[in-house]
Amino acid sequence: MDRRSILKALSISGFVALGSGSVMRQLLQGNSSSLSATPFAEDDAVAALPEVPKKLAEIVEDHAAGADFHEVSAPSKLEQQVADLNADLEAAKVDPHVKEYMQKIRYFEGVFEDDYFISPEEFQLVKDALARMSRVQRTVGHGNFNLISFDQMIKYGRNFSQVGEFTKVELEYLEQLFFADARTYGFYGEKVMSGLTERIPSRDLLKIPKTGHFLFKGKSQALYNKLRKDVGEDIVLTSGIRGTVKQMYLYLSKVSQAEGNMSKASRSLAPPGYSYHAIGDFDVGKVGFGYKNFTEDFADTDVYKKLQDLGYIAIRYTDDNKFGVRYEPWHIQVV
Ligand SMILES: [Zn+2]
Repeated sequence: MDRRSILKALSISGFVALGSGSVMRQLLQGNSSSLSATPFAEDDAVAALPEVPKKLAEIVEDHAAGADFHEVSAPSKLEQQVADLNADLEAAKVDPHVKEYMQKIRYFEGVFEDDYFISPEEFQLVKDALARMSRVQRTVGHGNFNLISFDQMIKYGRNFSQVGEFTKVELEYLEQLFFADARTYGFYGEKVMSGLTERIPSRDLLKIPKTGHFLFKGKSQALYNKLRKDVGEDIVLTSGIRGTVKQMYLYLSKVSQAEGNMSKASRSLAPPGYSYHAIGDFDVGKVGFGYKNFTEDFADTDVYKKLQDLGYIAIRYTDDNKFGVRYEPWHIQVV
């Protein structure tokens, strides 16, 4: 029995419901090799998933191997296959989104069709606000800039002529950014800061010598000390507590680098208010490894391998995390 008549028989016995898409069409054309090469963006969700066509092709092969159609189409076997295939198709309806999502966090530096871009006016505002925040940072010092509150930032603008007062539109934009729902840009993490002007009480802080960073006393401090003890002097704090202003500054720098693509920025950094650095998480690196501590290269270092072997560390952003963020092996989950 040839392929065409098998497919005809299959469609009579229930495959017809799913045979309207390009999978069936291509199979009918005997062009099954092109199935896996079908572009992902094709409107037919079935075509996006290689497993389903493969399965369909296998069934067709099975049937083609049988000499007599009546023999191979014994109802129980065929019904089971139809049921299995339908289940796969149900999964396929959901899967393209999952697949697209996974692609986004893997290729976080890429630009995707549905990425969220700010307007040119907003982009100008971002650049102006960033320049001013950068002057605040220079004035208060890098260490203190990690900690200052939104209100303090405004005061520095007002009181230091080298910074210059934040304009009303700049402040409105920053405020709006803080209260925005980050899911709009594809970030699915939890909002951990509720108030824009929240301050980090200095009695809760601990300055970590030679790093320019701070940790919360208690759990964060204890974990960092334990890491240093177990991994050795080669492990160093690369980013500790980050208040709202610092997170805003880092985030807007990403937005600026990404030419206004908020989605791209959000794939590599939590938007302000959403960072666990505000409540206890921290980043570690290998001494002397520089900016590479914030790349996947860190995962190849002996420091990371030791961290992994110790096993008690939870990495917040794994390579299949549900937050919409790239894999961050350097980020240590505390809270
Ligand atoms: Zn981090």
